[in-house]
Amino acid sequence: MPEAHGPSIHANYDRAKEFDMAKQLPNVIRSLRVLLVDDDEFVLEFVADMLHALGIENVQRASDGKEALAAIQHKSAPPQLLICDLNMPGMDGIEFLRHLAERGFEGAVILSSGEDKRVVKTVESLVQAHQLRFLDTLKKPIEEAALVAALMPLAGAAPAGGKFAPIQMLSPGEIRTGLDEGYLDVFFQPKVAVKERRVVGAECLARWRHPERGLLSPVTFIAVAEQHGLIDELTVAVFRKAIGYLGEWARQGHALKLAMAVNISMNNLDQLDLPEIFDDIVRQAGVEPGRVTLEITESRLMNDLAKSLEIIARLRLKGFGLSIDDFGTGYSSMEKLKQLPFTELKIDRAFVFGAARDDAARAILESSVRLGQTLNMKIVAEGVETQEDWDLVAKAGCDEVQGFFATRPMPADEFVRWKDMWESRQIR
Ligand code: C2E
Ligand code: CA
Ligand code: CA
Repeated sequence: MPEAHGPSIHANYDRAKEFDMAKQLPNVIRSLRVLLVDDDEFVLEFVADMLHALGIENVQRASDGKEALAAIQHKSAPPQLLICDLNMPGMDGIEFLRHLAERGFEGAVILSSGEDKRVVKTVESLVQAHQLRFLDTLKKPIEEAALVAALMPLAGAAPAGGKFAPIQMLSPGEIRTGLDEGYLDVFFQPKVAVKERRVVGAECLARWRHPERGLLSPVTFIAVAEQHGLIDELTVAVFRKAIGYLGEWARQGHALKLAMAVNISMNNLDQLDLPEIFDDIVRQAGVEPGRVTLEITESRLMNDLAKSLEIIARLRLKGFGLSIDDFGTGYSSMEKLKQLPFTELKIDRAFVFGAARDDAARAILESSVRLGQTLNMKIVAEGVETQEDWDLVAKAGCDEVQGFFATRPMPADEFVRWKDMWESRQIR
């Protein structure tokens, strides 16, 4: 769930700015086959002109879902990108998307709409549930900057034969050898206290240093490790590294009180000796367990509830902090708050980024904060990308924030340099 919110518009705007300077879209984008679907002749004309001006020549048009499906079916080279209206007489966008998914459409989808935000949100979720490649929703009238930003994620994925390269997962064998060869690495993203604007801790995020493919994101290996019995070893390796750096930073005199957050998977919660293993590691490093928070995402229900509850309760007894990660999504629900001794509530970025302009998201953010405060939990907002997001979560009463607005995750040595720089900037 956490990664399913589509590309971050603001990150794309950075790349769009690069475009702005060069006024030239990358070749992979200019050579795309695009299909525009809209019942409004004027919109079709307007968007087609805009695409042509951007150097995208191959643009087809359809006035409703039926016509679009026909265009897709009868083509040996199907469109690689759809820009699709929602409300159309005849077959509307929603029905069209379902047919697309049933036909295994492999191109990317941009929605365009003048509809109410909540309707659009629902359709976005639907597109993702259909496992279509969703890029963005553009508000009508479509603006060039927004269109360019929506297209940018395609710059990295070379379409071959109409298909975009899917995420290439590591194989269980690669993970097995990589763990032994030391390919697992960790990055750190700061947690910043909202009021004092001080760096109070970091979240440790797993990375893979692949000998050929370079630095890989956790989406390429966490789920595989979970499915193939490798997640316990991986989690302990990440934990050990995180605590190792915490000790090192303390020895170097950087912020002795820095807190550390480590992600644990639901699959880790059937290993009964996990609390002892973590406890041994922190003791050996001379780190107080209270400085370490375990972030638990409920991406699925607990397999063995009694076992999971036992492990969680013992982790808490040993003094570790427990965070309910991605709060508001998946199974990270109210019921779990009641059942488990969480010390921190981490609000998912779906209710943070852009929430200032999204009434429903903001309502969920604000009530999550109140809920957390009532339960005496620390409240962290993730996905703070802009000043607007920051101001909103500050006003809502979050204690700490994490997100691109401060900085992206980075290697350990960069993290301490960044922290010093950030703090010297705040003091001035
Ligand atoms: P998460 O726990 O929700 O971690 C935050 C993710 O959001 C990180 O992605 C981070 O780079 C990204 N992020 C940070 N700030 C922003 C922002 O302002 N906007 C946006 N759009 N994204 C932001 P990353 O590092 O790719 O990790 C993805 C997920 O992989 C994590 O989501 C976590 O669920 C999982 N993961 C990472 N490391 C581990 C690990 O050691 N063990 C386990 N079990 N899971 C891990
Ligand atoms: Ca996390
Ligand atoms: Ca998250």
